[in-house]
Amino acid sequence: MKIIAIGRNYIEHAKELNNPVPKEPMFFMKPETALIRNNKPFFYPDFSKNVHYEAEIVVKICRLGKNIETRFAHRYYDELALGIDFTARDLQAECKEKGKPWEKAKAFDGSAPISDFVNKAQFADIQNINFSLDLNGKQVQAGNTKDMIFSIDQLISYVSKFVTLKIGDLLFTGTPSGVGQVKINDRLIGKIEDKIVLDFLVK
Ligand code: MG
Repeated sequence: MKIIAIGRNYIEHAKELNNPVPKEPMFFMKPETALIRNNKPFFYPDFSKNVHYEAEIVVKICRLGKNIETRFAHRYYDELALGIDFTARDLQAECKEKGKPWEKAKAFDGSAPISDFVNKAQFADIQNINFSLDLNGKQVQAGNTKDMIFSIDQLISYVSKFVTLKIGDLLFTGTPSGVGQVKINDRLIGKIEDKIVLDFLVK
């Protein structure tokens, strides 16, 4: 399986990092070794001094697809979760400055903790889901999927022009504003609507 992650899909987040608001989706990938499941701890990597959390809604692909039309995209995912797109912001800044790919800042081991998946049928509108992240008991991010620049269906259509989507692939759909640094001993709690779905420590 592969993890596809969308960058800059919420206007306020693009602005907070002084990035332009994109005219088309931008994506990058993380390998399977980035995943952390079952609320296992995230081990702070020794190659970065500035790892940021980015809470994101994640959808799981349930059907093989290529060149998927937006209007049919909803048939290609059936479950969703909350994930963290951990980013070594210092390495990313260096990559950006030098025009290099982002992988070492985004794809490292443990850079993608995810919650259990829930069936999308339990949500009335996939583009109106609240999600949030608490850092040490204080809310730091709160988003709603209605604020995405590109909808989940548009993202699936766009990505599938370039990359065949396979069953079990994950799509991280971008983070709202409020990203920030984590430190060793921090506790992160993520919610979808009012339900705690992620609860893990940084070690
Ligand atoms: Mg992200």
